[in-house]
Amino acid sequence: MSDQYESVIGLEVHVQLKTESKIFCSCPAQFGAEPNQNTCPVCLGLPGSLPVLNERALELAMKVGLALGCRISDRIKFDRKNYFYPDLPKAYQISQYDMPVSSKGHLAIELKSDAGTLAEKRIGITRAHLEEDAGKLLHEGVRDGSWVDYNRAGIPLLEIVSEPDLRSPEEAFQYLVSLKAILQYLGVSDCNMEEGSLRCDANVSIRQKGAAPFGTKVEIKNMNSFRAVHKAIAYEIKRQSEALETGTRIVQETRLWNESKGETFTMRSKEEAHDYRYFPEPDLVPFSVSSDQIEALRKSLPELPQARFERFRKQYGISDYDAYVLVAEKALADYFEACTREGANPKLASNWIQSELLALINLKKHSIKNLPNLPPKHLAGLIRLIENGTISGKIAKDVIVEMYDTKKSAEEIVKEKGLIQVTDTKLLEEVADRVIQANPKVAAEVRSGKAQAIGFLVGQVMKETQGKANPKMINEILTKKITSQK
Ligand SMILES: [Zn+2]
Repeated sequence: MSDQYESVIGLEVHVQLKTESKIFCSCPAQFGAEPNQNTCPVCLGLPGSLPVLNERALELAMKVGLALGCRISDRIKFDRKNYFYPDLPKAYQISQYDMPVSSKGHLAIELKSDAGTLAEKRIGITRAHLEEDAGKLLHEGVRDGSWVDYNRAGIPLLEIVSEPDLRSPEEAFQYLVSLKAILQYLGVSDCNMEEGSLRCDANVSIRQKGAAPFGTKVEIKNMNSFRAVHKAIAYEIKRQSEALETGTRIVQETRLWNESKGETFTMRSKEEAHDYRYFPEPDLVPFSVSSDQIEALRKSLPELPQARFERFRKQYGISDYDAYVLVAEKALADYFEACTREGANPKLASNWIQSELLALINLKKHSIKNLPNLPPKHLAGLIRLIENGTISGKIAKDVIVEMYDTKKSAEEIVKEKGLIQVTDTKLLEEVADRVIQANPKVAAEVRSGKAQAIGFLVGQVMKETQGKANPKMINEILTKKITSQK
């Protein structure tokens, strides 16, 4: 995008709330049941059936509102959003129009600068309202036309709408990371994009930098991961700025993201847009929540990501960035804290979790939430061996793989395989002498002041000792020997 334009992005996130039953009936809300098994006259919209609000869904919605610094509305009301489509048995969706559960909050996101430091930016939250999900249409892999599964009809959703405060795909991505972290800490949703428990639509427009009016906005749907949201917004910004540069009119429309093609395409234009004709739901009367109830809920909130981030920096002395990465995924932060409780050095634990452990988990397609083979106690044990010099960091990288595969402790593996670090100075001096003799040119380079050349010699000593030597010790021994040969 040329420098004269800036992008304006707002996100609408639909979160499936983790309740036992649906929002207006007692049908189970679980994922994965046989089609149309979790249905009843209420969620099938049969005449004469009446909705009853699930109080748990309201409570979870209010918790999210409070965590986002929103005001809980004095008066809460439900409305009918009318549209005609086979996934909607009543031909209207019960949603909230002008009296949502909560409004006017904010979400802090952390943006990484080129220098690696973090800068906070506050993104406004317009509102968060409750609504029911629609059913699911199946067009592929079914016999005779299209089929519909109403198991999802009536599942409680919380729609969280941001202000158009986001200015780049990266900011949108970080917004989702921060929002997901809060939802996970609150325990209100599984936040699983693949199962549809977290869905995101993006409104994107372009305007002259510094100009007050917004450009024509385009809504993008059908993004199945945070990465896809990032890519779709980046694509859309490029498409719109190219249109502006060539003088092509941007049409207000809804576009779908095509992941395999890596582009957005028109779904429907504004002319085809729905006129939902909201009107109050007569079967659910407006109500108020007492301030005592709201305060009790506020007090029940757990430690949230931002507070944990501050605590991690202070309590463990780790960098802002490390604290941010750990905290963004609750299970990762929990694992880290469990390691420190087992006596691990926090900085080493943070490094080892973020590099070797995450690489292993990704490789094996496992999850940090469930690591029976590498309990925090075992990682803490490994870190202790590195810290007290029993094994080198290099050996430890092999040991962690073995621990992961065998469920054994680091101590056991090190003992079995004789991996204890060589700290015998005399032995290391002998090897160093041999290596210097075999590489006179490199030694001469070190002597002439090319300090980094010593790395090669250290590597040779490591090789001769099968990685069991202490690199710091070798470095010292080699330096001493080479400089004394002057
Ligand atoms: Zn039902």
